[in-house]
Amino acid sequence: MNQTEVRGMVLSAMPIGEYDKRLVLLTREKGKISAFARGARRQNSPFLAGSRPFSFGTFTVFEGRDSYGLTGANISEFFPKLTGDIAMTSYGFYFLELADYFSREGVDGKDMLNLLYLTFRTMEKETLSLPLIRCIYELKTMTLQGMYPDFFICRHCGGKADLVWYDPSRMEIFCDSCGTQSQQLVKLKDSTLYALQYIVSSPIGKLFSFQVTPEVLSQMEQIIGQLIKRYVEKPLRALEMLEMLAAE
Ligand SMILES: [Zn+2]
Repeated sequence: MNQTEVRGMVLSAMPIGEYDKRLVLLTREKGKISAFARGARRQNSPFLAGSRPFSFGTFTVFEGRDSYGLTGANISEFFPKLTGDIAMTSYGFYFLELADYFSREGVDGKDMLNLLYLTFRTMEKETLSLPLIRCIYELKTMTLQGMYPDFFICRHCGGKADLVWYDPSRMEIFCDSCGTQSQQLVKLKDSTLYALQYIVSSPIGKLFSFQVTPEVLSQMEQIIGQLIKRYVEKPLRALEMLEMLAAE
C-alpha cells in the first residue's frame, strides 16, 4: 500500500453509509483531495476528531484507484471557538467553501492553506471584526487565483497618483483627472484604496494587521462583494447562510 503524509485541513465531511465519511482535504502537497475515512463515525474511531471540518494537521493517506483512503490523522489545531459560536461557525464554513471552490487536485495548496489557517487563528484571537476578516480573506483568495483588479494604476493614463475613482462594472481604477463624476464610478476613500492595495500586495503572514473605520469597511465590502459575485460562478450554500444571518 502506497501511503503518504500530507499536511492540510478538512474542508468538508460528508457521512457515507452508517459509519464512514468522505472528507475533502486541502493539502500543501496535493492541493484539494477527496479521502474516504472508513469507520470515522464510530465512537472509538481514531479519526473521529480528525475528520471534522476545520481540523488542521497531518493526514496519512493511501492512493486508491479513484480516491484516497485515510489511514491516520494527527491533528494539531481544532479551532474550538469556530464551532462554538453561530456567527463564527457561519463565517468559518463560508471560508472553507470558498477555499473548496477555488482549489484543485494537483495544484499546490500551500498559500491557500496558509491563508485559511491564519484567518482562523485571527478569528480565534478576536482581534479583528468578522466582516473585516471576511474582506481580507475574500480578496486575498482571489488574489491567489490572479482574479483581482489592478488597484495600483490608472486604467486610462497609467498614472499612479490620486487614484480615486473605481468602476465596479469593469473593475478598473482611474485617477482624479481621468475619472469623471458619473453614476457608474465610485469615489474611493484614501484608506479604502490603501487597504485594497495592502491586501493584494502584502505577504499572507502580515495580512491581519490593520483596522479600518466603518465607512472604509463598507466600501471594501461593496467592492469585494462585487468581485466575489463576478468570479464565483455558482451559489455557495454557506454564503447564503451567512447572508441570512446578517440580514436578521
Ligand atoms: Zn489617469
